[in-house]
Amino acid sequence: MNTTEQIKKAIQHAMNSKFYQKHFAGINAEDIKSIDDFNKLPFTDKEDLRDAYPFGLQAVPDEKIIRIHSSSGTTGTPVIIPYTKKDVEDWAIMFKRCYETAGCTNLDRIHITPGYGLWTAGIGFQAGAELLGALAIPMGPGNTDKQIKMMIDLKSTVICATSSYALLLAEEIEKRGVRDKIHLKKGVIGSERWGEKMRKRIAGELGVELYDIYGLTEIYGPGIGINCQKQDAMHMWTDYMYCEIIDPKTGQILPDGETGELVITTLHKEGAPLIRYRTHDLTKIVPGKCECGLDFPRIATLIGRSDDMVKVRGAIIYPSRVDELLSGIDGVSSEYQIMIDHLNGKDIITLFFETKIEIGDASHNLEKTVEHEFKQKIGITPKAKAVGMGELPRSEKKSTRVFDNRY
Ligand code: ZN
Repeated sequence: MNTTEQIKKAIQHAMNSKFYQKHFAGINAEDIKSIDDFNKLPFTDKEDLRDAYPFGLQAVPDEKIIRIHSSSGTTGTPVIIPYTKKDVEDWAIMFKRCYETAGCTNLDRIHITPGYGLWTAGIGFQAGAELLGALAIPMGPGNTDKQIKMMIDLKSTVICATSSYALLLAEEIEKRGVRDKIHLKKGVIGSERWGEKMRKRIAGELGVELYDIYGLTEIYGPGIGINCQKQDAMHMWTDYMYCEIIDPKTGQILPDGETGELVITTLHKEGAPLIRYRTHDLTKIVPGKCECGLDFPRIATLIGRSDDMVKVRGAIIYPSRVDELLSGIDGVSSEYQIMIDHLNGKDIITLFFETKIEIGDASHNLEKTVEHEFKQKIGITPKAKAVGMGELPRSEKKSTRVFDNRY
């Protein structure tokens, strides 16, 4: 079956759900004859899924559903994703592939620290490990003392964690001086954007090879892609899903190699199929074949969320890039804010950053450095303004650093 036929079948199946009967009202799957036709279908976004709460996404009879997972998001109604037996099995097959791509075998002892419960983390890591025939150690998060004791006593060889928890464990192992009692060889790290600096620290302190695992609860969960031993991008299991990269503002499809938002269509999901689901994760399709020999297409390490991205005077500003460039400048703290205003017919960027340096000549020099670096790395010159430590308002949502006042 070619891609168009697979997609068509997926759409036909999705139309069994109340959600898609409404969302795709007036659309006939029979009319999808090419990828171009498919590209005209509306996207599905997380907000739409909330409206389908609780079981609006279900596309099979009740007796076929064996489990649900749920993603919460920051506000309001959760999203419920029903799974059939086959969905759970397919997910485990993909996850097993992830472990294999990372070079894990049935002799590995896989220490799983992501949480078990409504969201999909821990249980996905577990199912993949069991299918591989490895020894799963279902720790869940927290209790660092116990984590380290078990890691030593059971001789865990693979650590599964979020990047922040992996870093915390690495620091605790270092602090306790037990590094030579640890048997870890690999880290399978999920679900957060993380910089090269942090990656090097975790790899160095734990003495492991690191693998980024990709996934989201709406599309099975973690395990739908992972980077290989060539390290620089994640292979996606495209026999289970169809991936597109779009311009998040216009919805236009972007060619391979251009950064945009990842959009996924599930090809075999029974319980809650999704068509053109917007992940809001920013990445690009890495062109060409991977040296590792795997035929699955690759996406680059995530660089942020499309919701955080802004375009000013033709340049695209991603908070992750700003984080990165500021962290490379001595004297600039991690707290900053970007204001974008439209004054006298022109877009103006003001970048406020906190510094321990006394505000005066020295801080003016630092402002010049920040402006220069920003121009070099992002392509436009902001007005940089140094402020004292603690002067910028702290928002509850730590990610809100860019304020676009133009509209
Ligand atoms: Zn590869």
